[in-house]
Amino acid sequence: MTFSEEIKWHALSLGFDACGICRAEDSGLKTDYMRWISEHCHGKMAYLERNIDKRLDPRLLVEGAKSIVCVALNYYPQVKQREDLPQFAYYAYGQDYHDVVRGKLNLLFDFVRLLRPETQGRCFVDSAPVLERFWAARAGLGFVGKNTLLVTPGKGSYFFLGELIVDLELDYDHPIAQSCGKCRRCLDACPSKALEKPYWLNAKKCISYQTIENKEDMDEEVESAIGNRVYGCDSCQQACPWNRYAKPHNTLEFVPSEEFLSLDLVALQNLTQKDFNRIFKKSPVKRAKFDGLKRNTEALNRLTLAPQTHKF
Ligand code: SF4
Ligand code: SF4
Repeated sequence: MTFSEEIKWHALSLGFDACGICRAEDSGLKTDYMRWISEHCHGKMAYLERNIDKRLDPRLLVEGAKSIVCVALNYYPQVKQREDLPQFAYYAYGQDYHDVVRGKLNLLFDFVRLLRPETQGRCFVDSAPVLERFWAARAGLGFVGKNTLLVTPGKGSYFFLGELIVDLELDYDHPIAQSCGKCRRCLDACPSKALEKPYWLNAKKCISYQTIENKEDMDEEVESAIGNRVYGCDSCQQACPWNRYAKPHNTLEFVPSEEFLSLDLVALQNLTQKDFNRIFKKSPVKRAKFDGLKRNTEALNRLTLAPQTHKF
């Protein structure tokens, strides 16, 4: 077994669902990325305007970087919320993926350093300027779909991604040959038309952005399209035919509590800061903060009281 195969084998033994390796190099995505930023499709996520050179070339992020070990961890839920309840995106059902994926990645890095003690590197989980989906596709874990997410044929797209960037030459995987082809179900399914064209997400129109990242009042047009989504949105994933093959995860940390699964509109309206701290103690929902979840709840409440008038 080669060292690269040992790394992949160990990643699977740590609970990751997939692991692939690609060369750390210039992504070649500068033109596309700069166009997306210049058209303000990133909304108020100002961090996406910073460290652009590092984002486009991981060798500027980690000194001496030669390889990117990409991992994927399934989060497709075993048990889902009742559909009549205010919906949370599946990724937010359990504990914060940053902690869970980073914990496993740190163990993978320990394994690498046990066998090659001189190795330098860093672990990343949605926490630094890394083009996660692009590198995962380079490493053969799937392809980037028209919904801009990583799609793995036969497995779907409900995966958290992480990277271990190291100064070690390894054996590299190849991108897979598949793509979306003529399918455009995600574009058709998007309630707020945030997928303006294939591979092009206007975050300002996206329900996930508006209900999670946006810290101000929700955009009125997006609000009119949120339906019963109180935190995030999975519509462009639910529409993807590859997600018919999604299998429930087996990561204990992602199992939701009974209290979370039973949250209805009244419970969310009556939620206190203390309740929020308890129910979402280790949850990614903390990103929206108590005020953000309250804002979203009030938007849902307005929609249930008013006739549907969304303009998209
Ligand atoms: S998350 Fe929802 S709103 Fe955003 S692009 Fe996907 S379907 Fe559209
Ligand atoms: S729904 Fe179709 S177009 Fe969209 S990501 Fe899935 S396969 Fe690609």
